[in-house]
Amino acid sequence: MPNKPIPTVGHHFSDILICKQKAWLHYHGDSRLKMKPPARLRAMQVEGQHLEAQIYETRYAGAVKIPGIGTKSNIRSDKTIDAMRKGEPAILQGFVETSLGNGTIDVMERIGKDPGSTVGYSYRVGEIKRSEKLMTAHIMQVSWYTELLEQAFGQKTREAFFFLGGKDDQVHYENLENYRTDYQATKKALFELRDKEEGPGPHLMPACQTCDWRGLCMPQLLTENHPSLLPDLTQNHVMVLKSMGVKQWQDLDTVSDGALTDLGFNTFSIALIRKGRENLGNSYAVLRNNFRAELFDDAAYVSLEFEELRARHRQEDDGHLRPIRIHWTDGENIHSEEIRYDIQGNSQVDLMSLSRKSMLVLYGGADLGAFARIYRQNCQGIMPRLFDLLRFIETHVHVPFVGLELPYVLKHITHKEEKTEGAQRVAAIRVTAEWIARSL
Ligand code: SF4
Repeated sequence: MPNKPIPTVGHHFSDILICKQKAWLHYHGDSRLKMKPPARLRAMQVEGQHLEAQIYETRYAGAVKIPGIGTKSNIRSDKTIDAMRKGEPAILQGFVETSLGNGTIDVMERIGKDPGSTVGYSYRVGEIKRSEKLMTAHIMQVSWYTELLEQAFGQKTREAFFFLGGKDDQVHYENLENYRTDYQATKKALFELRDKEEGPGPHLMPACQTCDWRGLCMPQLLTENHPSLLPDLTQNHVMVLKSMGVKQWQDLDTVSDGALTDLGFNTFSIALIRKGRENLGNSYAVLRNNFRAELFDDAAYVSLEFEELRARHRQEDDGHLRPIRIHWTDGENIHSEEIRYDIQGNSQVDLMSLSRKSMLVLYGGADLGAFARIYRQNCQGIMPRLFDLLRFIETHVHVPFVGLELPYVLKHITHKEEKTEGAQRVAAIRVTAEWIARSL
């Protein structure tokens, strides 16, 4: 039996639009098995918090703010009702709970007196989103909050509003009546999923890279030889293929190109799937796109070492951390050099051998940015092309890594726990790039 489902909340609506298994796990999964968000997602969450704080300060200074999730839900709910009864013009982080579920609402704006509402006023829901575009998931979420307000207090409001990220500081109003059919269908699907004893199962997709449940799903996909380990297969494709006897990726050998064409795959996709199947058989990387076989020819692999304690005290004026050592290799030998700094803070290191390479492969934006800075300070002329292997994997590699941090990637390739610090990091980058090169 799965765990008793938690109450439905706003993010269940975005979950189900991304991955049904994610929505099911958020109802029934053991939250202790959730993984921490990766660094990129954490940075985006911090951006979202800054945007929220900025909007609260500039537009809602002095508004009532309900305590957050550290406070008991009945206290949060009582404080929200109290503020509504007083007819507060704006309520931030209002908490509404009904038998259907609950919601924490970024902003509730008073519309006016409402004799039909048990608190005497009706309120309009507003959400703050860091994304520049309004998405279906945002509409579903505010529709849910609006329904909770209707259920709890009898108010009937059909309008909601959004503050979006980006340069546009306009408020976006939406008539939720236009989305009623989609919302009702999504809610029905969500509640049906909630009431199921088993989830639909994982499916490898780009969203897995940042999902809380990747630690649970990725090993399961590997153990099951799941067909979604092949690129370009949607959940619907896998369902139809299952009915044709394809239960594992190896079974796709029994499906002709003609049958794949009938399923809607074009020639490019079929070639990609066949190539993916071949690579899986060889334990190579599976790619979502085609690349020239010479991608890593004449490349050198580079990593930087930041000494944390020293770096904290020696941040450059622009806030960037200073690397203290560089490691690089284009073959078996690893070269390491200390990076010194003059009194003006300019780095001093010999990068002559690297300047002759056509491409330098690094892992992640921090190394890439720091390397570009020290290169400009130490070498004249054109910088070799800098290639971010992390970004490449994020975008083009279709493999169930538990995380995109180098230790996870290396473990997937070598099946061993290996250190990826100091000079070992550059060796790990080379092993990863060579593994991808074999699959091209
Ligand atoms: S890791 Fe992937 S398959 Fe699993 S719940 Fe998350 S998005 Fe779905």
